[in-house]
Formats: sequence, structure tokens, C-alpha cells
Amino acid sequence: MQATTLSAGDPIEARCTKCRKNTNHIVVAMAEEVPVKVQCNTCSGQHKYRPPTVPKKAAVRRTVDPKVAEQKEWQSLRPGMDSKQAIDYSMTTAFKVGGLMNHPAFGLGLVQDLVGPRKIKVLFEDGKKTMRCK
Ligand SMILES: [Zn+2]
Repeated sequence: MQATTLSAGDPIEARCTKCRKNTNHIVVAMAEEVPVKVQCNTCSGQHKYRPPTVPKKAAVRRTVDPKVAEQKEWQSLRPGMDSKQAIDYSMTTAFKVGGLMNHPAFGLGLVQDLVGPRKIKVLFEDGKKTMRCK
């Protein structure tokens, strides 16, 4: 078992306002089991104990591959798609959001969004793709 009780003279990491960073300190005075006064090893200044600041954690990287998420989305939406309603894709065909298309390379696709003039975002089994349309 690890001893957690500190006493005067023990080293402790604390925030030093003079050094403006976490430095090693020596406990000068304890109250109950909490250090109240510490001395900075770097600047020798004595001050109230401040717990060391925790460096901000780097943003957690998303481990989910967006493509995998899109493929999951496809799998969840696929049962609601009636492939008989799909319109064969061509750049000169107008598509509506919510409509289905049949693409020669990507297969069945669900039109999810208009992303710009003559551009649509389509969810295929392989993930989302931006397509030209009329
Ligand atoms: Zn200091």
C-alpha cells in the first residue's frame, strides 16, 4: 500500500505562481493531511500550496474511420431502400434529396444532400460520394 500522508519536509509537486509552472516543492506546513504551505525548489519562494495544473489533454483523435461510419449508415438505411425506385445515374439527370440512384460503378445510392449547384451527396454501400447532376 502506498503511503499518501505527507509531512513537513516532504517533496511535493505544486503550482508556483512565481515560476508560473509546476515545480518541485517542499512541504513547509501541513494542516490535517493537506499541505498548506510549500517552498519552491526552483525560486525558493514560500507560498500557499496550489495543486499542480494538469496540462490540457490533446484532443482525442477520433478513431472511427468516417468511411466505416458511412458504411454503417448505409447498412442501417439499406432495408428502407427500394432498389426498384432507383434512377440510373447520369450527369444530366436531376435527382432529389431522398431519391435513389443506380450508379454503374457504385451501385445503389441514396441522395442525401444538395452540396452545391449541380452537386449532390450520395450514400453508397462504399461510403458517401459527391456526384454531378442536373
Ligand atoms: Zn517557484
